[in-house]
Amino acid sequence: MSSVYTTFSDIFRIGIGPSSSHTVGPMRAALAFVQELDAKKLLENVVSVQCQLQGSLAATGIGHHTPNAIVAGLQGLKVHEYDKSTVCITWKDVETSATGRVELSLNGSHNITFSVQDILFEPYIVNSNHTNCMVLSAKFTDGNSFERTFLSPGGGSVLQLDNNTQEKFPIFGEISSTNDYVQDISDYNTAQELLELCKNSNLTISEAIRRQEKAHCRGNFTDNALNQLLDHTWQTMNQSIESGLTANSKGSLMPGDLGVLRRAPKMYSTVKKMKISGSSARIEMLSCYALAVNEQNAEGGRIVTAPTAGSAGVIPAVIRYLLEEGVDDKSKAIQEFLLTASAIGFIIKQNGSISGAECGCQAEIGSACAMAAAGLVAMRGGTPEQIENAAEIALEHHFGLTCDPVGGLVLIPCIERNAIAANTAVTAGSLALAGDGSHKVTLDMAIETMRQTGIDMNDAYKETSRAGLATIVEC
Ligand code: SF4
Repeated sequence: MSSVYTTFSDIFRIGIGPSSSHTVGPMRAALAFVQELDAKKLLENVVSVQCQLQGSLAATGIGHHTPNAIVAGLQGLKVHEYDKSTVCITWKDVETSATGRVELSLNGSHNITFSVQDILFEPYIVNSNHTNCMVLSAKFTDGNSFERTFLSPGGGSVLQLDNNTQEKFPIFGEISSTNDYVQDISDYNTAQELLELCKNSNLTISEAIRRQEKAHCRGNFTDNALNQLLDHTWQTMNQSIESGLTANSKGSLMPGDLGVLRRAPKMYSTVKKMKISGSSARIEMLSCYALAVNEQNAEGGRIVTAPTAGSAGVIPAVIRYLLEEGVDDKSKAIQEFLLTASAIGFIIKQNGSISGAECGCQAEIGSACAMAAAGLVAMRGGTPEQIENAAEIALEHHFGLTCDPVGGLVLIPCIERNAIAANTAVTAGSLALAGDGSHKVTLDMAIETMRQTGIDMNDAYKETSRAGLATIVEC
């Protein structure tokens, strides 16, 4: 079975928090919408734009900053360049405007009036293709209109849906030339096929993915260009750790009304002062690094989806943990980790899900944990079979994990969940390395089990904040 190639940048996307599906995806969709209007020379005739958020995008959109992402995308802002310092009209400006409306520059070149009524929340309208659905429509001076339906299935990916044929087209949109890929067919679709590919070609998993990345990219994507992308991805991840560790160490309040304090800065200074060393200190730091990234994420800071924003802390924490173990060639080791993890992320995305709105948190945190465990084994020199085993172990022990963010915010249980999963990834990697790669339950079986469990899961546990902790904890 062949599949559309999901690139490294589809799995590891430089973006902003707090959610890849509810923040990054909608911003990219809004940008794609205005870019298409511009390319078709229709932009100058637009008098108004409306966005209807459906399903999970409407249910937890406010807590996930979805309206702000849409307003930013409509102004032509690109997600990998946007952060809190970007000067633009925000959703808060729209909400707090005395008249309830603001002037918005579509794609940075055509002004319209935009009001709070122009974003509609419809949590009980659920598109049969995916619960994260948004419909953008523009009205023109001549009374005609233009409409596009977008799905945001996780990881910041966006699909445009043809409402007549139900066909879905990936949006490549704003991505830069270094990671501008063509839609193409993947060399593998399942873990079994990937293992066979490695065996038949005598390649490691990271070498197989490297070969594929180069083959499926537009233009001349050299090893050097790929290495630059990998290095930049790690630098951005590491910066999100550093920013989280050095944020206000007195304990700043996280967004929302839950009264959640940042913990990473305090934990970091405490661990550094503690008279512990060796593996105990490193384990404490592992959790601390994961907290740091996800506290940044919750504040809408710069992160790399891995594979989502809500689960962005697991992989950076595990990489930093491994680097502190001592590595000869850091850059090569990080590249090997990231390429291997991306292969596992692709297989899970292709055959299961990386979306909390689709299959619960098992799909987000479980996938991140599986990718991290696989990367760890690769970095420690494990075989492709041991890598596949590590990913399977990590995913298996997340089956049934629900998504129930309190107050619709990516705070409780999300931040701690990253720290726990980072620890699980280290354990899963060690267990796999203790064996020879042979095992009963394959990664493909685990992914299918996760998918089936997601189908059976009550929809209230899929990023709607209508069950679990979200209804028990008072906001
Ligand atoms: S509970 Fe898990 S899936 Fe849900 S928002 Fe939090 S991290 Fe994402």
